[in-house]
Amino acid sequence: MEQLALYGGPQSKTTPFSTGKRFGEEEAVQLLEALDQNTLFYHFGEKVKHFLSDFNVMYGSKYSVATSSGTAALHVALGAAGVTVGDEVITSPITDQGTLIGILYQNAVPVFADLEPNTYNLDPKSVEARITPKTKAIIVVHLAGNPCDMDPIMDIAHRYGIKVIEDCAQAYLTKYKGRPVGTIGNYGCFSTNDFKHISTGDGGIVLVNSGEEKDYATTHAFADKNYRRLGTTLERGTQFIAPNYRMTELQGAVGIAQLKKLPWICERRRTYGDRMNAALSSVPGIHIPKVNTHDECTYWFYMFRLEMNALTCERDEFCKALEAEGIPNRAGYIPEVCYMQPLFQNRQAYLGSHFPFDLSDTTYSQGICPVAEEILQTAVQIPLNEFYSEQDVEDIIRALQKVAAHYAVGKN
Ligand SMILES: *Cc1c(COP(=O)(O)O)cnc(C)c1O
Repeated sequence: MEQLALYGGPQSKTTPFSTGKRFGEEEAVQLLEALDQNTLFYHFGEKVKHFLSDFNVMYGSKYSVATSSGTAALHVALGAAGVTVGDEVITSPITDQGTLIGILYQNAVPVFADLEPNTYNLDPKSVEARITPKTKAIIVVHLAGNPCDMDPIMDIAHRYGIKVIEDCAQAYLTKYKGRPVGTIGNYGCFSTNDFKHISTGDGGIVLVNSGEEKDYATTHAFADKNYRRLGTTLERGTQFIAPNYRMTELQGAVGIAQLKKLPWICERRRTYGDRMNAALSSVPGIHIPKVNTHDECTYWFYMFRLEMNALTCERDEFCKALEAEGIPNRAGYIPEVCYMQPLFQNRQAYLGSHFPFDLSDTTYSQGICPVAEEILQTAVQIPLNEFYSEQDVEDIIRALQKVAAHYAVGKN
């Protein structure tokens, strides 16, 4: 067996990772056209409208609303779904903060359900166990581009009369049993921040899946101070508050060009991620991320788990050895499950106040989602990029096989 680079052996990766340009002439042309309109306001210009109309075609949807971020998209979906003071919203403890912010801004209370050990997505049984009379909605997170098991989630939602919001910030063109995620729940939310599959700098989209014009109008207004602009006259809705999360024409313009690249980006990531899964599925010590049969993952990153009993090293050493082989990686994803953050531990979303936490009996102690905690303690994340070459992916695979073989129990 070849010596690990960590101990002076040859590195697995001897060439730099392939890179590419995300933005080019196509974006520049769109931006100039946007400026030439003499307005950058989404409702007067054509760029945001065009961007959404292309997005709708890609997703087979009738209505969508543009927002200033993915966090904003989720807040808008919550507002449109009628989530309000004292409601409970069930969601995943392994996610971006953006999933949680809108819940708290609506003065509703996040309730964390546990995850499936191999997909890192919500476990429907745990979701059902967390339902109370206060539950108003579920936000499912399709983590790292892998679809959550939506059929049982939708079944629960129908039985209890609650809304489902899909957080697709990491899951463009991801398919669940052949259907694009984001079109299955009541609302599908996307992010176009600079780190996602496509970027408009910042931005977001909400798919309104009922296909009903009144739901579209409510969602549209909730991203725009509750101003009702879709009728013949502007109506300043002042019955309740809504934030201003409008997308500008500049973002819409870049989005039009980016969307054209999206199918290629997702196809490459899917090919590379699936290839890694196939090559690593039988490597002792490595648990690959499970993509269920009939599903398609578009790998925002590649995250697998170490089976600690089958390895002679701790996770930190595994990561260091991989790094030494020339493969960038990170232990876990977020440092801890979301409910361990001070804001949940101190029940303080707003400085000096326990509101809205004091409206709910939900608790945030260590151990409430044991599987999620275990995932974060054993996971290793490897960046994956559409610009990587075939060779890059082969090098990652070889390095992983080498490091896992070195530390395999019974090998030394
Ligand atoms: C990125 C992300 C968000 C937030 O999107 P922003 O555009 O950064 O506000 C929400 N949820 C998940 C799962 C994300 O990855």
